[in-house]
Amino acid sequence: MKIYNTLTKRKEEFVPLEEGKVRMYVCGPTVYNLIHIGNARPMLVFDTVRRYFEYRGYEVNYVSNFTDVDDKIIKKAIEEGVEASVISERYIAECKKDMEAMNVRPATTHPLATEEICGMQEMIGTLIEKGHAYTVSDGTVYFRTRSFRDYGKLSHKNLDDLQAGHRAIQVTGDEKEDAYDFVLWKPKKEGEPYWESPWCKGRPGWHIECSVMAKKYLGEQIDIHAGGEDLIFPHHENEIAQSEAANGKEFARYWMHNAFLNIDNRKMSKSAGNFFTVRDIAEKYDLQVLRFFMLSAHYRSPLNFSAELMAAAKNGLERIVTGAGRLAELEAAKAGEKPEAAANAKAEDAKTAEGALSQMTAAEQESWAAAQALTAKYEAAMDDDFNTADAIAAVFELVKLANTTAGADSTLAYVTALKEELCRLCDILGLITEKKAELLDAEIEQMIAKRQQARKERDFALADRIRAELSDRGILLEDTREGVKWKRA
Ligand code: AMP
Ligand code: ZN
Repeated sequence: MKIYNTLTKRKEEFVPLEEGKVRMYVCGPTVYNLIHIGNARPMLVFDTVRRYFEYRGYEVNYVSNFTDVDDKIIKKAIEEGVEASVISERYIAECKKDMEAMNVRPATTHPLATEEICGMQEMIGTLIEKGHAYTVSDGTVYFRTRSFRDYGKLSHKNLDDLQAGHRAIQVTGDEKEDAYDFVLWKPKKEGEPYWESPWCKGRPGWHIECSVMAKKYLGEQIDIHAGGEDLIFPHHENEIAQSEAANGKEFARYWMHNAFLNIDNRKMSKSAGNFFTVRDIAEKYDLQVLRFFMLSAHYRSPLNFSAELMAAAKNGLERIVTGAGRLAELEAAKAGEKPEAAANAKAEDAKTAEGALSQMTAAEQESWAAAQALTAKYEAAMDDDFNTADAIAAVFELVKLANTTAGADSTLAYVTALKEELCRLCDILGLITEKKAELLDAEIEQMIAKRQQARKERDFALADRIRAELSDRGILLEDTREGVKWKRA
């Protein structure tokens, strides 16, 4: 498997630190709001990377933090007149709901910055002891960037060049030795959460959190460190400086960064009015469509989000789900045809690859070989720096092959083999191929009543969500003067 490593700017063969195991750390969101669709990109991309490693037989220890102490969280807490923890706990819970709806598996561990303060103080102490950090009069602790020879190796920046461009940011009276020295610990301000420390009552800087959480849950050396490309500098550069200066070892072997998601070819921003949360998207689409959309581009390519592209993604996904559904229906019909005892014996036999093959006709055996060549194509794409775009192209070809070669005359063994292959390849991408079960009339009525209640309470977001969920499941609503009417599409 090859991975593009930001550190070396090359694709490199993946060699794990420990055979059969992958230790990976993905920087998680700062929890002060619902996550936006930009935040969803690294979640979906690296969840897929994890799934593919597992498919290849690796055991993956996947750690992703929540930054739950930060200026933005504190600002929101002050606005609402609540403790900062109320804000962070609320948005961690909401983020987990979005992850589940996008079929992003929970990490092996989701550490919280506020629960790791002890480890942070320990690492800061070590850095001071080793001469890599210093304290100034108000108790702030800075990392001494000049003391770390390799500073700039990830972002391929040179400290002298950086300095030349930024001399101006060294404010007069600032006790920092160097403009690029960064904060490890800072004093509290009025009303902020704080912890006692040997330097001052205060809280940690952002970068130290990840160095410490990665070390605690994965060890001093890890295989992969990942996040969005905006994190390369300064966040990841600073993480390397802290971890390598403190531990005296190379921190991460491979650094992976996803490119940004833009909206209608412009940077997403609240002020520009082109800002979407994952929850906004969930009102219009099944989040499987968002997942499919994100994976239809290579993770290192910038991705543009637009209504047209989402509509195309919806169609693409539908083609796959319909193909898989047709195979499942064929399989059920075939399984029902045979006398039970004979069918069971055959099914038992088909559990092995040779058994299944021997039950196929000669023409089917040939088609099955073509299907397996598509699986090989899919694997080659994923082995080449997780090229999900090409992997999806192979899935489409498999659907086409199934649509043209499997039918009422096919053997059960052939239909089952195709169906299972398609599901397996989709599952690695986190795409669910099973159609949701058909809703019963009573369930539909219940959902409509819930929607009416939501409208009465002026919770239009919930009302729209219910309508979208019904529409996704093939139920169309019509608001008439006599009330809500519904029909199956
Ligand atoms: P933040 O909460 O801002 O620290 O972001 C959490 C993760 O989302 C980081 O890995 C960011 O790099 C990533 N991210 C933020 N905005 C975008 C975007 N527009 N496109 C892709 N990734 C993003
Ligand atoms: Zn981080």
